[in-house]
Amino acid sequence: MASAMTPQPARASKNAARLDALLAEIRACRICRDTPSGPALPHEPRPVLRASATARLLIAGQAPGVRVHQSGAPFTDPSGDRLRQWMDVDVDTFYDASRISIVPMGFCFPGWDAKKGDLPPRSECRAHWHDRLFAALPAIETILVVGAYARDYHFTRLGLDWSRKETLTTTVRRWREFQHSTPRIIPLPHPSWRNSGWLKANRWFESELLPVLRREVLQAVGKRGGDSCMPN
Ligand code: SF4
Repeated sequence: MASAMTPQPARASKNAARLDALLAEIRACRICRDTPSGPALPHEPRPVLRASATARLLIAGQAPGVRVHQSGAPFTDPSGDRLRQWMDVDVDTFYDASRISIVPMGFCFPGWDAKKGDLPPRSECRAHWHDRLFAALPAIETILVVGAYARDYHFTRLGLDWSRKETLTTTVRRWREFQHSTPRIIPLPHPSWRNSGWLKANRWFESELLPVLRREVLQAVGKRGGDSCMPN
C-alpha cells in the first residue's frame, strides 16, 4: 500500500497499474460460463467496459446488448447515439477512457428472454467485481447512473436516500437532491428507444435536467474532442 510519503506521481502510476491488472482480470473473466450462480451464459463471455484512473466522469450503465457484444465497445448502438446526444459529446470524447469511464452492472451480454428482450445484467458481475473496481476509481467526481440496475447498486453503495419501492421515474425526478452528493450523481432513464414514450411523457427531463447534465459533463471532461469515428 502507498504510504503518505510516497511521491504523488509514483502513487498515481501504482494505482493505474493496479487498475490495469484488475481490468485484465475482468476481461479474462469466464465465471458465467464455468461457475455461474444460475444458468450458464448461452454464449462465450465478452466483458465490455472502459475505465481509467484519471477519468472524472463515470457512466454507470446496465449491460451490453447484442450489438455491443459484437463490437466489443460500449454503447455502439442507438442507445449510445441518444446518450451522446443527451451528454452533448462527440464520439471521440465519449470513447476517451482517460476522461470517461464506462462501467455497466453486467459486463457481458446476458442473452435474451423468451420475448427477445435482453435479460437482466448477470448478478455474478456485481458479486465478484464491482466493489473492487469502484474502489480502484478514486478520481470519479460525477456518475451518470443509467437505469434501475445501476441506480440500485450505486445509490446503495453511496448511502443515498432512496427506497427500493421507488420507481426510476421518481428517482430521476428527484435529480436535484443528488447534485451535492460526493460524487455528484445524475440519475437517468435508459436511453433505449423503448423509453421514447417515457421521454415524451416527461418533457421536464429534456428542458430541466439535460442542460444540467451537459454542464456537468463539460466540466468533468473538459473540451470536446474533434472528428468522430466509432471505435473498433
Ligand atoms: S458477466 Fe461478469 S461475471 Fe459473468 S462472465 Fe462476464 S464479466 Fe464474468
